[in-house]
This record gives sequence, C-alpha cells and structure tokens, in this order.
Amino acid sequence: MKYIVVTGGVISGLGKGITTSSLGKILQSRGLKITAIKIDPYLNYDAGTMNPYQHGEVFVLEDGGEVDLDLGNYERFLDVDLTSEHNITTGKVYLTVIERERKGEYLGKTVQIIPHITEEIKRRIKRIAMDTMANVVMVEVGGTVGDIESMPFLEAMRQLRMEEGEKNVFFVHTTLVPTMEVVGEQKTKPTQHSVKELRSLGIQPDMIVGRSKEMLSEETRRKISLFCDVPYEAVVSAPDAKSIYEVPLIFEKQGVGDYIMGKMQLWGERPDWKEWKKYLENLYNPKYEITIGIVGKYVHLRDSYISHREAFTHAASHLRTRINLRWIDSENVEEKGTELLEGMDAILIPGGFGIRGTEGKIMAARYARENGIPFLGVCFGFQMAVIEFARHVLGYEDAYSTELARTEHPVIDLLPEQRSVDKLGGTMRLGAQKIVIEKGSMAHSIYKSEIIYERHRHRYEVNPDYIEEFESRGLHFSGVDETGMRMEIFELKGHPFFMGSQFHPEFKSRPLRPSPLHMALVKAALKFRRDKENKPS
Ligand code: GLN
Repeated sequence: MKYIVVTGGVISGLGKGITTSSLGKILQSRGLKITAIKIDPYLNYDAGTMNPYQHGEVFVLEDGGEVDLDLGNYERFLDVDLTSEHNITTGKVYLTVIERERKGEYLGKTVQIIPHITEEIKRRIKRIAMDTMANVVMVEVGGTVGDIESMPFLEAMRQLRMEEGEKNVFFVHTTLVPTMEVVGEQKTKPTQHSVKELRSLGIQPDMIVGRSKEMLSEETRRKISLFCDVPYEAVVSAPDAKSIYEVPLIFEKQGVGDYIMGKMQLWGERPDWKEWKKYLENLYNPKYEITIGIVGKYVHLRDSYISHREAFTHAASHLRTRINLRWIDSENVEEKGTELLEGMDAILIPGGFGIRGTEGKIMAARYARENGIPFLGVCFGFQMAVIEFARHVLGYEDAYSTELARTEHPVIDLLPEQRSVDKLGGTMRLGAQKIVIEKGSMAHSIYKSEIIYERHRHRYEVNPDYIEEFESRGLHFSGVDETGMRMEIFELKGHPFFMGSQFHPEFKSRPLRPSPLHMALVKAALKFRRDKENKPS
C-alpha cells in the first residue's frame, strides 16, 4: 500500500483539493489505480448539516454520503465514484472510539488520543486502501498545519509513515508564496515558517507545492529547497491557472509525476494526456457564447454551487461554448423584479432550503416559462417551478411547499417516509436512486436511456394528488421513481426547453462525461441565442 499525504500551510483556500486531485491524476495517467480521502478535522459527523455559506456546497455521493466539496473535485478529476468512508471527520473518529469504549471493548484501559484516536484514524485509511485495492491512496488533511483540530490527524500520518516505511508514504506540503507587488519579489518566509511547524510535529515534507501568481523563480525554489530541506526538483510551482483542469499538466511539465514515481518506487505506463489536452483545448477555444443566469440564495460565496459551475465548464468544452454564469440573488429578484434576468440565454434555479428568497425563484421560473427562455430547475428549483405552475396556470394562488408554510394547496409535500423522522443529520432521501424515463420524451432524448441513476438530497416531493391536474395542463412528468409515485423529471409541453429534476445532475458531471441535463440546457440556450440574433428587429 502506498499513500500520498497532502497537508497545507500558511492559509486555507490554497487549492489543496486541486493539488491532491492533480497529483492523483498524474499517477492515474500512468495506469495506476488511484483513490482519495479527505480528512476534515471538524467535529461535525459529516457536512450534511453544514451551511453552504460556511464551507461551500455539500457534495452528495452515490451512497448518499453528504461530504466535503473536495470529494467532488476528486471524483471529477479521477472519474471515480467514492463512498462516504472517504471523508473522515473528527466526529466520525470520536464517535467510533466512544461507542467502542461504551461497549467495554477497551478492557478497562484509559482511552486516549494517542494511541486510540490515532489508531482509529489509521484503521480507516488502511481499510480504504484494502477495500479499493488502489495502488496509491491520496490523503488530504484539511485545515492548516498548526490548527489544534488537525493535530491528532497529523500525528496519525507521522505514525503511518513509520509503520508503512519511507517509500510508501510521501508527504506533500502546499503553501502560499506571496509576491510583494512593489518589488515583484516572491516571499518564502511564510513557507519556511509553516514547514518548521510541520517538522516540529515530526513530519518532514518530501515535496513542497508553492501557490503563487506566477511560476516560482529559480531563486525562490533554491531558497525553499535550502531552508526547508527539500530537494530542488521537489519544490513545485502551482501558479494561477486558467482552468483547474490544467493543473495536472502544469505539474507534469515540471516532472512531478516521474519524481514521485521514482521516490515511491512505483512502475507504470507512459502517461497519455491526449483526451485531457483535447478537453482543455476545446475549453480554451470556444466558437460560441451564451450567458446563463443562476438564481439562488447562496450566490455570494463562490463555492456554494461549485458542482453546477463545474458541470457548465464540462459542457462548455464539449459544446465549444464560452458560458458566462451570472449569479443572481433571488432576494434581489424579489426587490427589483425580473429585469435582472433580461439578456439571459437560459436560467437555472439550483437546490436550496428554507423560505428566504423563494418568491424571487418563483418569479424567475415564471419569467422563463412565459418568455420561452430555456430553464432548468434542480431539486428546490424543480419544486419552485412546480409551485409557480400551480399558482399561475392551475390557478391555486396559495400553492406552496409544506417545507415553507402551511397552505390549502400543498403541491410540494413531505415524502411519506419523512413524517416520522426527527433528526436532521443524514435523514433526507439521499444518494443515487433509480429513475424510469418515458420513451419518446425529451428526457429520453437527452439521457438516451430508459433507466438512469442520479443523486438525490431532499425531504419534499411533488404531491401525488395534483399530478393529474399538472399533466392535463401540459406539465408532463417524464421521469419517475420505480414505484411511479415519485416525480423525478418534468418537461413543459409547448415550451422550447422548460425542465426540472428532483435530483442533482451536477454531482455526476465529469470533464469527459458531462451532465446530460446541463448539456441540454446549454444546447437550448445556444438555439435561443441564435434565434434571437436572427430575428429581424
Ligand atoms: N428543501 C428541499 C427538500 O428538502 C430541496 C432540497 C434541495 O434542493 N437539495 O426537498
């Protein structure tokens, strides 16, 4: 078993997740089987109950795990499906240890951070290595070195190296190398300090990845090498890149892949980047351009809707289209009206929770429906579009979701199995679920299959009592669950593209296998734009 442990210093938000994914990718390109683990040193059991404003999007896995968004990056870069076991949190580790203690399994011993917590951390990591049979397990330690929370994890990683041997555990430390604007000089002091901190914990990095605006200069690399006791070739530049998907190639150019292979005594094939390069080339050379409005509540934090952003990046390359995303706060739509949506070639309403901003989302759905603008509603967005239709087409003015308020016309209602649920964490309808698609429908032409699996995260659904009415007025449910009772996809008859999905197609989008619904929305937007431009004014 081989492990690459990625730590971070100086500040958070250095793109450690992208570094981890990219290092994994360059090894994978040599024919190795790679998997990845994210350690989150917080006490929450998982990310499910966390506000997207604090940590960005909650990513959902096939098995229903609600996890850190970095697992989304691993899945997208490596094109693998991970499980919730791949996100290790302090909450999970401590819960296991405390439960074991309550069962008396420690036989009267004093239960301590060292060795009991550190053993449990290593056990979880080694189990993944065994279960996945990966050649290399990437382990990203969240937070920055020096945080109290991450101490037990770093100690466990130190022990791992001791137990598994130097060739089998490779430490990569990512740091910030700021440039003093006036003099244009790259500063290595923060890196020196954070490596010192890391070494005080008994970990000597094997490689340092310096995040900086430009490539690290020779002098900077030499300095870091000298002060941090890392070979010159192992001081790597991670400059700002046009696309995150270019980072593996930037590393490859610096010989990072061969260096790690050599140090870890790994053998593989010659890397083949043909498809990946083609993907980037198409992304960087668009022939068309569109603008999509994303109407949501968490638009002020860049990472709240990261999977949608990535899904559109994937579609952008495949459709040779520059996609401008306009992030529109649904509360602003409420206040200022739908003028904010003018000029959009498509509108997307993503998932969400709670009442704030819902009227703005309903206005946006109506605007798209009445003006023939391509529209996709995802999860909460799907539900908002259904409410809008019930209000303005079926004529139920008070139509609403019981998540938000009591109403005479609860067109969106709690899933039956949710009625007895009283805990918040991990209790939604989660993960991959089977969806049956009607032959000949728009959904069918998009997915080209009658059975699909997509990822879910919801408590509410379309109230079955209203289905007949919706259908009679043209809101057609072309995708349902296995029982036929649960509505999964709608498409509006007579509208060029007005669709919604109760599931989240964005979570399964990969660079070389983009989300079918995002692709379809972009295609519809391209047509919308073309028609608009060709219309004589
Ligand atoms: N709040 C809605 C529900 O629970 C939608 C959830 C979501 O968009 N992920 O059904």
